[in-house]
Amino acid sequence: MSSASTQSGTSLWTSREVGRVDSLVDGATLLVIGGVHGNEPAGLIAAKRVLDAIVEDQPTAMRGRMVVLAGNLSALNSNDPDARYIDSDLNRLCTPEQLAKPSSTSVEHAEMHELLAAIRAEHARSSTMIVIDLHTTSSNSSPVVVLQDSIPARRFADHFPLPRYLGFEEELPGLVSDRVTEELGCVACVIEGGQHQDPNSILAHEAIIWTALDAAQILPIGAMVHPCDPRSVFAEASGDGKGSVFDIRHLHTITSPDFGMAPGVGWGTPVHAGKTLVALEGSEMLIAPVSGLVFLPNHQLTKRPGDDGFFIVRRVGTGWLGLSARLRRQEWLHTLIALLPGMYPMPDGKLLVDADIAAFLKRQVFHLLGYRLMRHDARDGGRGIKRIYRGIGAFARAFFHGPIKLDSDSAPDLHDPRFWVVRRRKLDLPRG
Ligand SMILES: [Zn+2]
Repeated sequence: MSSASTQSGTSLWTSREVGRVDSLVDGATLLVIGGVHGNEPAGLIAAKRVLDAIVEDQPTAMRGRMVVLAGNLSALNSNDPDARYIDSDLNRLCTPEQLAKPSSTSVEHAEMHELLAAIRAEHARSSTMIVIDLHTTSSNSSPVVVLQDSIPARRFADHFPLPRYLGFEEELPGLVSDRVTEELGCVACVIEGGQHQDPNSILAHEAIIWTALDAAQILPIGAMVHPCDPRSVFAEASGDGKGSVFDIRHLHTITSPDFGMAPGVGWGTPVHAGKTLVALEGSEMLIAPVSGLVFLPNHQLTKRPGDDGFFIVRRVGTGWLGLSARLRRQEWLHTLIALLPGMYPMPDGKLLVDADIAAFLKRQVFHLLGYRLMRHDARDGGRGIKRIYRGIGAFARAFFHGPIKLDSDSAPDLHDPRFWVVRRRKLDLPRG
């Protein structure tokens, strides 16, 4: 090991860069981000332990580097241990609109600009960079991986024997990890390591980092003696959901501070559309709008309007995943899709889809083919035979009437409610 630096102590996070180890031998970069939420320091504590262990052991097998960045320094160092953020959630802020605003806008705007600058600088000196963003949850939970569903991201996540969740970025604009993928083209995963205060969450994050170093071919797990084997940590922590894949189907965003999950409803509780009471918000009873399992129920002490209340997820079959991997590689298929009635390709690669056709196809078909929903609504394509009729009707209308008239001259309005906006997964696109 030729180059290493780490901050001392863990009670105060003094600078953006928490530490780094660089083998000075050519290889990939693992960029570890922790504390994007101020009340979630477990990932940073784990990352520091890994850095310290590598510095002490000096493994000669190491290629490339590992760099650790602190996410929301202001919230991490706040006097309130429950401070997820100061002004606004850093992990919802990284949208083009907010990025255009200066650092003086809010505490988190300053954090965002500094963090992204540090990430870009690291990317500029690396041939290959993989990013893991480490989080913990307010509810009791086992570790899970949250990723954008591209083929390279799937390949990376295959190394972690943990449940996987897809489709976060479609419901939550402004994720740090999404920004990294969209802007820099890096594989980026979010890891939820367990409950905020549970010491096992730190262990889980350590296991995640060691495994990620191995997966990125920076440092094989076998190259060092680990106090506790990462594989056995996963075996104990991942429960019975390991290897399962889930798709996000619904997010409830909190509108009132008196939000609370309904009694008996927690992480993994099955809910039924139109039947199950999921949460209470003021005098309102929130009934599940779709069937599935509850994910990331909000048990924070303080709830603020705009925070995530809960998600509903559904399991994705492995056959479906295999099929989608094969279909996504068929370039002719994507050419054909763009030629179908009701599909309007934009010069920047986005595709406007007639909303009636989109509702008939449902989001799952777009996911299967590797399209990301940039904007969609909750319109229902109907059920059974009615759905088929409606679908055929929508295609026929689009075919006979020709394209829906887009406002000429000016760029098409991406907020036009007649369309859904979709785009192929960036990392699935052929390189060239
Ligand atoms: Zn978090």
